[in-house]
Amino acid sequence: TPTINTRSYDVAVHSVGKIPLGIKRKGLRIVVTGGAGFVGSHLVDRLIARGDSVIVVDNFFTGRKENVMHHFGNPNFELIRHDVVEPLLLEVDQIYHLACPASPVHYKFNPYFNGIGILNWGSLVHKTNVVGTLNMLGLAKRVGARFLLTSTSEVYGDPLQHPQKETYWGNVNPIGVRSCYDEGKRTAETLTMDYHRGAGVEVRIARIFNTYGPRMCLDDGRVVSNFVAQALRKEALTVYGDGKQTRSFQYVSDLVEGLMRLMEGEHVGPFNLGNPGEFTMLELAKVVQETIDPEAKIEYRPNTEDDPHKRKPDISRAKELLGWEPKVDLRKGLPLMVSDFRLRIFGDQKDGAT
Ligand code: NAD
Ligand code: UDP
Ligand code: UDP
Repeated sequence: TPTINTRSYDVAVHSVGKIPLGIKRKGLRIVVTGGAGFVGSHLVDRLIARGDSVIVVDNFFTGRKENVMHHFGNPNFELIRHDVVEPLLLEVDQIYHLACPASPVHYKFNPYFNGIGILNWGSLVHKTNVVGTLNMLGLAKRVGARFLLTSTSEVYGDPLQHPQKETYWGNVNPIGVRSCYDEGKRTAETLTMDYHRGAGVEVRIARIFNTYGPRMCLDDGRVVSNFVAQALRKEALTVYGDGKQTRSFQYVSDLVEGLMRLMEGEHVGPFNLGNPGEFTMLELAKVVQETIDPEAKIEYRPNTEDDPHKRKPDISRAKELLGWEPKVDLRKGLPLMVSDFRLRIFGDQKDGAT
């Protein structure tokens, strides 16, 4: 018999997926890998607020202790410094598997100097996606936990279908600078489905589209964090290429709601989780100017290799099967991120410009 935890429920059930709706449950034991990162830390906040016990597993490559420090001392919270590439033994009910260096800045400069030594960033990202995901699936299998993979819209590559539906197989370069990330996530999806079909593990797959919000790394090179930090520091906004490429930007609270609905729901997915509001990079720069500094200048830079030309989620599947759709549009979400960035860049000074 699989080791299944029934302690967590008022009713004895043999799978977290089979809790009858409306039955009040006690807290679950949940692992969030990558929980000290941007998305993970917001997810942890919601799970803790719901009354669950949360174990964050993070090696702090791109995450920060500061993101979860407010839970220190809470008996429902644990933080383990651990690289998911190494095996890990825990007893839990659910695994949210987010651990993966997600920022593009690193793999675009491969090999990458991290301040201590030269890292082969590509192999590190790929290993995390493949071996890390395998380990967490092995853990899920051993303890009968439900496993959620945070995959990415990058599995669609430079898409030939627009907007992208989950049924689209993608247009991905297997040997390019981004391949460690997008091919890595594609393999992670494959492993997830293999463990589902072959070992009966309960799995969920989310394909996340560009997400922004408080606690994003200030200098991780993603476009929203770059533009916001640049505008606050009175630097020019760096637009890559002609700025006509598009992305669709989702506020982090919408994503966290989607991830939790997906985990608790009955459907494996994959599900696109993103905001269909599509912007060119020049339009995004304009929104940042309007929000922070209308005088902010724009500076054009050469674009990076294999940059997808457009990206926009078709979210009909998530709407229909998860009852989910994003609520916070860019003009509403951006100011919430700006106040966090202002505080982190300038501390308590009221006027960041001086
Ligand atoms: P992030 O870099 O802020 O968080 C990732 C976390 O994983 C960090 O805390 C990092 O230290 C940790 N980590 C990395 N490698 C690890 C390893 N080997 N072992 C243990 N911990 C490790 O990024 P994020 O934006 O919060 O992304 C979270 C997840 O969502 C990632 O899997 C990412 O691929 C996915 N995603 C994010 C976006 C987005 O726009 N933010 C879009 C698509 C997919
Ligand atoms: N694993 C882990 N924690 C566990 C169970 C497994 O980290 O609680 C790792 C294990 O070390 C292995 C991977 O998950 O590398 C896959 O495990 P599985 O049992 O599916 O595969 P096997 O070990 O049989 O190849
Ligand atoms: N980009 C930009 N200026 C920047 C950083 C990024 O114009 O300072 C562009 C980048 O070329 C891409 C888009 O913004 O077309 C989104 O880039 P990001 O790295 O944020 O996300 P991803 O490419 O992974 O979707």
